[in-house]
Amino acid sequence: MSFTLPPLPYAHNALEPHIDQMTMEIHHGKHHQAYVDNLNKALAGTDHENKSIDELMATMSTLPMAVRNNGGGHFNHSLFWQLLSPNGGGQPTGKIADAIEKELGGLDKFKADFANAGMTRFGSGWAWLCVKADHSLCVCSSPNQDNPTMDLSECKGTPILCVDVWEHAYYLHYQNRRADYLAAFWNVVNWAEVLKRYEDAIGK
Ligand code: MN
Repeated sequence: MSFTLPPLPYAHNALEPHIDQMTMEIHHGKHHQAYVDNLNKALAGTDHENKSIDELMATMSTLPMAVRNNGGGHFNHSLFWQLLSPNGGGQPTGKIADAIEKELGGLDKFKADFANAGMTRFGSGWAWLCVKADHSLCVCSSPNQDNPTMDLSECKGTPILCVDVWEHAYYLHYQNRRADYLAAFWNVVNWAEVLKRYEDAIGK
C-alpha cells in the first residue's frame, strides 16, 4: 500500500485573499506531494509499509526520522486542508463553542492563545487545538512536522484545529509577517469541521 496526495476540497484560489493561489498550488502540489512521496520511499520494503497513517503516528517513537518528518507532513497537511474553507470564518457553533467558552476563556482568549502558540513556535512547526484523553481542550504547538497524535509528542491529544506556521505556508504573500497570516487564518477556518471533529473526539 502506498499513500497518495488527497485532492484539495476547494480550488487553489478559493481561499483568496487570505491565502493566495500560488501559495496553495505550491503548498499542496509540491510540499504535500513531497511528504507523500518521501513517506512512501521511507516505508518501501520495511515492516511498516502496510500500516495506516494513524498506526504510524501512534508508534512514531520506534520509527526512523524520515517516517516522522514525512509521515507527520502527510498527516498534518491532510488535516489542515479539511480545516480550511472558502465558506469558513465567523464563529464556532454548538458544543465546541460552549467548550471554548467554558474551558478556554472564550473565543477571543482562545484566538489569542492559539495565535501565540503559532507565534512563539521558533522556526517551523504547527499550532494545535486538541482534545485530550480526559476530553478537555488544550492549545499547544509542535516543532517541524510533529503532531499531538505521535506517541513521542510532548503535547498529546486528538487535533481538531491546526495551523501550519512553516514559512512555506505564508511567505509568498505575507513574507515575514507571520502574525498577519495568523490573523487572516480565522477568515477561512472551517468551524463546521472543527465541531464535527470535536463531537467525534468526545463521543458526542
Ligand atoms: Mn506546510
